[in-house]
Amino acid sequence: MFDPNVLLRAHLQKLVPYSSARDDYKGSKGVFLDANENPIGSITKENWNRYPDPYQYDLKAKIAQIKGVKAENIFLGNGSDEPIDLLLRAFCEPIKDNIIINPPTYGMYKVSADINNVEVREALLTAYYDLDLASIEAKIDGNSKLLFICSPNNPTGNDVSLVKIEEVIKSFKGIVIVDEAYVDFTSRESFVHKLDQYPNLLVLQTFSKAWGLASLRLGMAFASKEILAILNRIKAPYNLSGLIQRTVIEALDNVQAKDQMVAQILANREILGKALAENLKIKTICPTDANFFLVKMDNASAVYQALIAKKIITRDRSKVALCEGGIRITVGTEKENEMLIEALKTVLN
Ligand SMILES: *Cc1c(COP(=O)(O)O)cnc(C)c1O
Repeated sequence: MFDPNVLLRAHLQKLVPYSSARDDYKGSKGVFLDANENPIGSITKENWNRYPDPYQYDLKAKIAQIKGVKAENIFLGNGSDEPIDLLLRAFCEPIKDNIIINPPTYGMYKVSADINNVEVREALLTAYYDLDLASIEAKIDGNSKLLFICSPNNPTGNDVSLVKIEEVIKSFKGIVIVDEAYVDFTSRESFVHKLDQYPNLLVLQTFSKAWGLASLRLGMAFASKEILAILNRIKAPYNLSGLIQRTVIEALDNVQAKDQMVAQILANREILGKALAENLKIKTICPTDANFFLVKMDNASAVYQALIAKKIITRDRSKVALCEGGIRITVGTEKENEMLIEALKTVLN
């Protein structure tokens, strides 16, 4: 039996979380003299004078419907960055505990661990950017608390093997985080439907990519009630503004707009992939299940700089292990992709 409370840092076992007076009264009508808010109104056109729902019940109810999961299995944060940081703060004793990551991968896991003074152990992906189970196993010890798997992986773009992910979840004694930031662009099924099967699984998704809401900062973590109860105890009480909650609740009536944008981006991905393949100076176009390509070439950093000079900004990954010669390119609009292809022709020839 997996119990996340056994993994919890000792000093948090007896933490008394912040409580607001509104924990004792659930209604929305009443005379609210408990939170020292301004009772008159706001300086803005709309009124934001009342503190927002700390647990975002209405927003979670809508997300639950759309994702086909229970609201009690959803945690919402200020981007995915917030649950990543909360997981480290909840489960990893600085200096003593460690996390396992699979580079080349998303940079925030290591940055967040570094900020929290938690050791990062790297089990490099294989040459084809899949999980290296032997390497992962060799890195794990009794102090390994979290294991991050990113699929589709950033910056390589591919899904890692589903079977291998499941093997890791089954064998790891800590919490496995499957980061699905790009899940809308892949045909691989989401792990959110496997939460009942795996009590040590936490799935990350975000509104920053497919939904087009990067500026709002809204990330989702899906996990057991027990894991989420821990995150909820240590999060800032009002971690999501009322403005975000209301805006997204309204936008979620419009899921087909997201689906249409995803379809358009996938169509553009296809066209861009073909156009990149026609440029013989590009040596490798990594297979992608996301909304970007990792492409490899000679003198990648110089190419990256030359593109910047043309006001086309990509991501230089050429100094990252296993990404040598690599530039990561987001799929843009049709027009942007054409400009990129033209610029690459000039720069590479
Ligand atoms: C973009 C991205 C995220 C999103 O982070 P937010 O904080 O939600 O904007 C998470 N994980 C990966 C791998 C990403 O590439």
